[in-house]
Amino acid sequence: MNLFSRILNAFTEALFPTRCLICKRFYSINHEHQQISKVIEHLNLSEPLTMMYRKQLFQDLMRPFLCETCLSDETPFRFDRFDQHEKEYNRFLSSVKALVRFDGTIRKLIHCLKYNRKIQIAKPLGLWLFFLWIEQLREERPSDLIIPVPLHRKRMRQRGFNQSYLLIRHWEKYKTQLPQEYSNWHVRKDILERTKYTLQQVGLLKKERMENVKNAFKVTKPEAVYGKSVLLIDDVFTTGATSMACAQALLLSGAICVDVMVLARI
Ligand SMILES: [Zn+2]
Repeated sequence: MNLFSRILNAFTEALFPTRCLICKRFYSINHEHQQISKVIEHLNLSEPLTMMYRKQLFQDLMRPFLCETCLSDETPFRFDRFDQHEKEYNRFLSSVKALVRFDGTIRKLIHCLKYNRKIQIAKPLGLWLFFLWIEQLREERPSDLIIPVPLHRKRMRQRGFNQSYLLIRHWEKYKTQLPQEYSNWHVRKDILERTKYTLQQVGLLKKERMENVKNAFKVTKPEAVYGKSVLLIDDVFTTGATSMACAQALLLSGAICVDVMVLARI
């Protein structure tokens, strides 16, 4: 960083101190960490995304939003069983993958995103998820379609955004960083629709959740899904009721398989 940038950063920091999204304390920030583009430049398909690296990457991406205390929370990273690919989760989902456990800092961050409208953190969280996906490409060929779990129009109006879509909004841009054999996929948010307005799933038991989302989704463009493999994206995986209902609709329209990837699972 040149002298001018350093002085400018010092002034910016003094005038607009950074406040941690979670604990609300002011903290000083190293502006060199702020550029997401730097992280993307270092995309590397040959390096496995170990739990340690997963945490390191999380800290690099979230440093502009969280203080060091909140960043150093180990809780969500402690459970390496979430690292495993869960094959044949059930008859609808081929696999379920999550970056971490829904706990500690991650849990608070997802809450900030969904309920406190801190949508600025969707981009770094989405890039973090993108790395998990990159990791998967070393073993499997990419899905043809990447689809966010949709919200009902009414919920969309209330919330103003679909957090699952915000996570993958920039993936088409990141695609240009990938070797060509890995870039034959598309992010589509116009294929799957939530037609039934349902209760919030929070607080419901698994059986109630299944009932709640039964027939809640509809494929609006079956021709786009037919013969395609689909990767569903959501922020949190709880009982899987929502993902399963989406997958059922997609499979009925001729999708060959449906995988799920989320930031965190309970
Ligand atoms: Zn904090």
